[in-house]
Amino acid sequence: MKIVIIGAGPAGSSCATQLLKSGVEVVLLDRENFPRHAPGETLHPGIEPLLEQLGVLDLVNQKEFIRHEGIFNISEDKSTFTPYDEDKKWKGFQLFRKEFDSILLNNAIELGADFLSESSPVSIKLTPQNQIESISTSNKKLVGDFFIDATGKRAWLVNRLKIPFKNYSPKRIAYYGYVEANDSLDLKNPKMIWDKGGWTWIAKVKKNQVSWVRLDLNGQGKKDKNWLPKELRRFQPIKMSKAVDVTWRMAEIVSDKNYFFLGDATFVLDPAASHGVLKAIMSGIMVSHLIVNSETSNINDMHKTYYNWLNQWFIKDKDELNKLYKTLTTFKNLEVENFSKENQGESKRIHGV
Ligand SMILES: Cc1cc2nc3c(=O)[nH]c(=O)nc-3n(C[C@H](O)[C@H](O)[C@H](O)COP(=O)(O)OP(=O)(O)OC[C@H]3O[C@@H](n4cnc5c(N)ncnc54)[C@H](O)[C@@H]3O)c2cc1C
Repeated sequence: MKIVIIGAGPAGSSCATQLLKSGVEVVLLDRENFPRHAPGETLHPGIEPLLEQLGVLDLVNQKEFIRHEGIFNISEDKSTFTPYDEDKKWKGFQLFRKEFDSILLNNAIELGADFLSESSPVSIKLTPQNQIESISTSNKKLVGDFFIDATGKRAWLVNRLKIPFKNYSPKRIAYYGYVEANDSLDLKNPKMIWDKGGWTWIAKVKKNQVSWVRLDLNGQGKKDKNWLPKELRRFQPIKMSKAVDVTWRMAEIVSDKNYFFLGDATFVLDPAASHGVLKAIMSGIMVSHLIVNSETSNINDMHKTYYNWLNQWFIKDKDELNKLYKTLTTFKNLEVENFSKENQGESKRIHGV
């Protein structure tokens, strides 16, 4: 069997690794030259067994990424600290993505992935039964038994197959950036700072480097590229900030025929959900199992299993996020409550089976 995976972030590399361990041939391509930057460093300690399963836990530990004991939630009238466990021994990770994503990718390459760097698909060929026959880059035609979209929010294959995303929130834009900060900033543990307009996340991701994310829930918060959260204004920014569309959304079909979508190409919630990298890795592992067992399983059941698994995850995280926003009194009457019911609803189509 041969699998073509587009996108070598945590989703694509994890899927490739698990497939290769089962003796499946993998071609993995990414438009970027690694190591490449990506936002989203903070991971729950529960990620450890997955890193072990992928065979990268020792490499991750050798890097001595910053670990934290829990998270501070700070609002106008109170500050609460939620440790990951009572002993404060179970520690979360600040997996600096440039380095972490390269560990995952190099692991897949060492296991035998044929990696095409700085390579993007430009076209796709379908069979009369609407299976994918091949995808082509500017200089290569790639054939395979299964094709996987792991291109993150760009969702290249999802879009190429004209599969719609259903929105579950008003438009939400997250701004993020990094500053060079010294020890005068007390940041042993990340801080989620809530205010009337939304939230600001600040976390130390490297010695002398702090990341921030800002989300305005009332839609009023357009930022210029030099904007910084007030807690960090005394520090030097590292490059200008970036804006990302984090509107809550899910693809109406997450797999069908001989293709699957992974990670952010399936659904997106705003970063307060904090499961982005976990979902990327877990969806990669899940799809590798489905593909490895595909010869002996019913194809429709395989797609239903994947859809139900992802959809349940999406709904649970979405509902918890909604509850979190609604229970914070400062967010009464914000758009999340006023968002038109007609635009909500659960995805109705299940991959055409
Ligand atoms: C501001 C912000 C903060 C976040 N914070 C956290 C956090 O603290 N913890 C957490 O778990 N999650 C966080 N997330 C979410 C997390 O970043 C994503 O969920 C995660 O990166 C998704 O992994 P992925 O592998 O699906 O996609 P990505 O990591 O986006 O990887 C996709 C890969 O596909 C490649 N690609 C794209 N298009 C093409 C193409 N056409 N052809 C070939 N290759 C292509 C890209 O170059 C990239 O390497 C945050 C997100 C944002 C925006």
